Amino acid sequence: MNLILLGPPGAGKGTQAKRLEDAYKIIQLSTGDMLRAEVSSGSELGAKAKEIMEAGGLAPDDVIIAMISGRIDHDDCVNGFILDGFPRTVPQAEALAEMLANKGMSIDHVVAIEVDPEAMVARITGRFTCSECGAGYHDDFQPTKVDGVCDTCGGTTFTRRADDNAETVRNRLSAYEEQTAPIIAFYRDKGALKTVDGMADIDVVTASLKEIID
Ligand code: AMP
Repeated sequence: MNLILLGPPGAGKGTQAKRLEDAYKIIQLSTGDMLRAEVSSGSELGAKAKEIMEAGGLAPDDVIIAMISGRIDHDDCVNGFILDGFPRTVPQAEALAEMLANKGMSIDHVVAIEVDPEAMVARITGRFTCSECGAGYHDDFQPTKVDGVCDTCGGTTFTRRADDNAETVRNRLSAYEEQTAPIIAFYRDKGALKTVDGMADIDVVTASLKEIID
């Protein structure tokens, strides 16, 4: 089963993708995570991506499309995948359709997580992640039970994304409105779009997604 999760930065795509990954044994494919891995590896692509990401812009379509096309061919995608953060432009959505058709694959569900964009700045700027197990937290909305200790693994080191600062977040939200929001209409016009209320409690959003999938 192959899914696309749509929604602005902070909508909860990554959080929900991780939960669906566990529930359905399908794999989360986050183009943002792939680019962050490139940055960490110190590759040439990573150096270019770092600048773009820190400015809150979008990486070039051809780079992203090639990255996803290669990734979908890996063995761990055989049960299916959840696209998180891709497609992000209409050309990416068109290229995805063509790429999947060529591979004899298709998308089963396209789900937009609907949120109030104004609420996203506060959601994103307080995010942090356990460096050891990747569990996600928020300063105000989901703090660790014991200050400085991960609820899941007991880890005591945490990381914050470099692009989760207020200025970059505003640019990321503008990039979403200008370049990504049009793909909602792209999928709606094809009769393929479903929506969930992303302002609801995290568990309620997961339940709504499972209802669509099941
Ligand atoms: P994310 O982790 O999805 O919030 O992505 C972080 C950053 O990576 C974005 O702000 C973009 O700069 C870049 N990025 C991730 N996915 C894409 C994509 N599909 N197309 C272009 N840029 C992307």
